[in-house]
Amino acid sequence: MTNPRPQLVTDVARLRRVLDGVRGRSKRIGLVPTMGALHEGHLSLVGAARSECDYTVVSIFVNPSQFGPAEDYQQYPRTLQADLDALAECGADLAFAPAAEEVYRPEHATWVEVGSVAEPLEGRCRPGHFRGVATIVLKLFNMVGADAAYFGQKDYQQAAVIRRMAADLDVPIEIRVCPIVRHDDGLAMSSRNAYLSPPARQRALVLWKSLQAAIELVAGGQRDSAAVIERMRQIVATAEDARIDYIALVDPDTLEPVDEIRGRTLAALAVTIENTRLIDNHLLQPPPD
Ligand code: AMP
Repeated sequence: MTNPRPQLVTDVARLRRVLDGVRGRSKRIGLVPTMGALHEGHLSLVGAARSECDYTVVSIFVNPSQFGPAEDYQQYPRTLQADLDALAECGADLAFAPAAEEVYRPEHATWVEVGSVAEPLEGRCRPGHFRGVATIVLKLFNMVGADAAYFGQKDYQQAAVIRRMAADLDVPIEIRVCPIVRHDDGLAMSSRNAYLSPPARQRALVLWKSLQAAIELVAGGQRDSAAVIERMRQIVATAEDARIDYIALVDPDTLEPVDEIRGRTLAALAVTIENTRLIDNHLLQPPPD
C-alpha cells in the first residue's frame, strides 16, 4: 500500500501554522532541503529524517540566489508532480514548494556570508554560490523551525558551510550528513545528470574512476598528494571533452590543501562534461603508520 501524498504547502504563513500544530504535539521535526527533481540520493535523506524524527518536511525550491548569471537556473529541471509521488512513496509528511517571490520579497537585502570553509573549491569556482546557499538554508531553518536538518555528502563543502553557519549564528538545529548515493556504475546521483547525453553519461564515469584510483593509491601507501592528484587528472582526461575546475586533496574539516596524506583526507573534484558541471568526492583513509 502506498502512503498518502505529503501535504503540499506553498506559502510561509501556512507552513508556520501547520508546523506550530505539529510542534504543539511535541513532535520532532526533520527538514530535508532540496531543489527538487528528486532521485534516490534525496530520498535517502528523507529516509534518514524519518528514522530520527516524527515529522518530515521536504523543501523543494530552485533557489535563484545560488546560481551564477551564466548558470542553469532557467534550465534546472522542475518536476513537482513526480517529486510529490516520490515523497509519498517514502513517507514524507509535508512538501514545502514556494514560488521565488514568496521567498525573496522585492526589498530583500540581507545575505549570509560564511568565511574560510566557503572560500576554496566551489567557492572559488562559483562566486556568490555559498552566499545564496547559506541565505536560503538559514531562511528555511527559520521558516520550518526543525530539530534536525539532513544534507548529502555529495555536496561536502555545502554541508561544511551550513555546519559553520548554524554554529556561528547559534541556530538551534542538528545538522546530519548522509552518504553519497551512486548509480550501479558509480556515478553519483544528481539532478543534473539528466542533462547528459548517453555517451556523455558514459564519459562522466571518469569522476568516480578517478576517486577509485585515489582510494587504491592511498590504501597502498601513497602519501604524496601531488602524485594522487596527477593520477586522478590523467583518468579524468581520458574523457576527451572533460574540463577540470579542480581536483583537490584537502583537510576534511578546514578544506585547506593537504600536501602529505597522514590522516583522513577529502578528495574532491569538479569537472564539466558536455556543458554539465559535475562534482564528486570521497574521504580517503590512509593505512596506519
Ligand atoms: P539538491 O537538490 O541538489 O540541492 O540536493 C539536495 C540535497 O540532497 C543536498 O543536501 C545534497 O547534498 C543531497 N544529495 C544530492 N545528491 C545526492 C546523492 N547522490 N547522495 C546523497 N545526497 C545527495
